[in-house]
Amino acid sequence: MEFDLIERYFKKPFESLRAAHADVCLLGIGDDCARIAPLPDHHLFVSTDTLESGVHFFEDVDPADLGWKALAVSLSDLASCGAKPLGFTLNLAMSLQSPAWLEGFSKALLDIASRFNCPLVGGDTTARGANTGLGVVVTVMGCAPTQHTGLPRHGAALADDVWVSGLPGLARLGLLLECQNRDVLPTVCAPDLLDQTRALLLDLPIDLQIQARNALHRPTPRIELGLGLHGIANACIDLSDGLSGDLRHVAHASQQSIALNVEAVRALWMAWWLGADDHMDALLQISWAGGDDYELCFTTPEVQRNEVGYLASRLNLPLSRIGRVVLLPDTLTPGVFLQFSQLDLQPLAVQSHNHFQVK
Ligand code: ADP
Ligand code: MG
Repeated sequence: MEFDLIERYFKKPFESLRAAHADVCLLGIGDDCARIAPLPDHHLFVSTDTLESGVHFFEDVDPADLGWKALAVSLSDLASCGAKPLGFTLNLAMSLQSPAWLEGFSKALLDIASRFNCPLVGGDTTARGANTGLGVVVTVMGCAPTQHTGLPRHGAALADDVWVSGLPGLARLGLLLECQNRDVLPTVCAPDLLDQTRALLLDLPIDLQIQARNALHRPTPRIELGLGLHGIANACIDLSDGLSGDLRHVAHASQQSIALNVEAVRALWMAWWLGADDHMDALLQISWAGGDDYELCFTTPEVQRNEVGYLASRLNLPLSRIGRVVLLPDTLTPGVFLQFSQLDLQPLAVQSHNHFQVK
């Protein structure tokens, strides 16, 4: 059964994608190891992610959304390092998934793998006891020329601009909508924010609701952006835990402080939704705390502003300048700050994204 399953849902459908990369993936699914030919003068980048039902996705998740997201989140790690995808492995630990479920999962997985030229080169499939949920592990491999820095988290330099792609917090909005639909909003929303969150969700226009759900279920890894940032950005991170948590990693690793321009993030919400002003406090909170966006947040020297602008138009992707790496007065402890005006800096506490715990 297991062999048939691998053959039917993973080996056959992915065969032509692997054949298109026959120079890189010399041996794929069906042998004891995949055999990969790294490009000369390139470094290998490897990243792995685990998705567990009830923690990272709802147990009744659409299998197609899960297939897409399982690879998307790992590709996003390659994107934030400016690496080009080479291939990936897939580990599944599952109880009884129906053929329709596997079909939906594998089709969407193939969609995103094809979109980013990333063949499936192997994996592992194990049985889990009944009612023990589903675990999906994806490991991606990518490459970049040896002289490329990898856009490390420790690379941010004093006076760098801080940029973000897309709208940070959009996926969190999608999660709030999903939880409200399931009547479990309090599992992802602090009690003191419940009322204003409910009011916000009630007012959300339908097109923004669709975009928010899409951001949650079908995130687009910003591979092309990561590649475009070679030679432009000093540091980069993909937003999986929200601006407050992820930028703290950059600030700490770089031993710098970051001031986020509240007005710029406010303007970003207004650009997406004219009615945003009525709910701005809740929306800003969502931007600081919201996870699962898989947008890129990066720092560049000021002289690169035009280059970033060209990149945004070439990729047709909104890139917004939302902050700066700053030198703090001695009285403040380094970290991430919200800047309300020239003189008004307030520390931004980490409000890390809480994965939901819904059964
Ligand atoms: P082994 O016993 O050598 O670990 P397996 O029976 O686990 O081999 O797997 C057989 C082949 O199928 C291997 O090439 C493995 O990489 C591939 N494979 C197993 N599960 C998956 C999966 N979920 N996705 C892709 N390839 C898989
Ligand atoms: Mg095995």
